[in-house]
Amino acid sequence: MSDVDDVLTAIAGVDNFLKDLFVGDDEDLQSALDRIDENGFSPASVSATQGKLLYLLAKLMNARNILEIGTLGGYSTIWMARAVGSSGRVVTLEYEPKHAEIANSSIARAGLADIVDVRTGAALESLPKIKEEGLAPFDLVFIDADKENNVEYISWAVELSRPGTVVIVDNIIWSGGILDEGSSDANAIGARAALLALSAEDRLETTVLQTVCIKGWDGFALAVVK
Ligand code: SAH
Ligand code: MG
Repeated sequence: MSDVDDVLTAIAGVDNFLKDLFVGDDEDLQSALDRIDENGFSPASVSATQGKLLYLLAKLMNARNILEIGTLGGYSTIWMARAVGSSGRVVTLEYEPKHAEIANSSIARAGLADIVDVRTGAALESLPKIKEEGLAPFDLVFIDADKENNVEYISWAVELSRPGTVVIVDNIIWSGGILDEGSSDANAIGARAALLALSAEDRLETTVLQTVCIKGWDGFALAVVK
């Protein structure tokens, strides 16, 4: 085993320890992860401690109206929906009908069906409808879908915001792939493009944190609308 593998194993061990301490056994969240696994979806959900971070950020800003782009099996959705209270709402956008179906059942199991609105289809088609329906402004926007469209999602997040809206973009470091300007990896290209777009966006104040966890080396951008 290389030194790097040793470090990744140690990091995963620490992450499991932190999960035990700060998340614990949570049947609804575990069931959502199990269904993602059983259905052969990619294991792309945020980690447990990251999910709890989304939950705590939503709570500390008293978020009532959240937009998520990229639902997968509803794991991050459940975390955020738990923060908004019974009068709150999470609108979450998912391209794959099968993902949306499984997400809906996991969200219902968690008792959050009345709070969460899963919209199936390409996010870039759903976003104009959300605007027309008057669902904005959102208090928090979590961008975690196809990285190729990150830049457009960031524009939409600002479009659907108010001063103080928080925008979080996941998977922004991609194991350092963002530094490779000649990369052919669409995810790394999309992450780098998001960083450049965030840096150039005058309406946002942004920082980026790198993370190491059970998912390896990545990070997220945290921005507030001016
Ligand atoms: N936020 C989830 C993980 C999302 S994974 C969590 O942390 O639990 C990314 C999801 O984005 C996948 O389910 C994928 O199907 C979806 N996706 C990909 N392209 C999309 C698009 N154009 N519009 C909406 N969703 C898309
Ligand atoms: Mg992600």
